[in-house]
Amino acid sequence: MSGYLPAPEPVPGCAACVRLREEGNAARKRGDVSGETDVRVLLARHLERAHR
Ligand SMILES: [Zn+2]
Repeated sequence: MSGYLPAPEPVPGCAACVRLREEGNAARKRGDVSGETDVRVLLARHLERAHR
């Protein structure tokens, strides 16, 4: 796990969180590091806006 920023924790049952996590997983599987980072930023922003 070293070298990675901590992944934001998706909220169970939130469709937007689930979708973003799936996108992040898909990006990671195809080796798209910048895509994975983008999704992580989007998820963090969504968590800030929707779950606080
Ligand atoms: Zn959410």
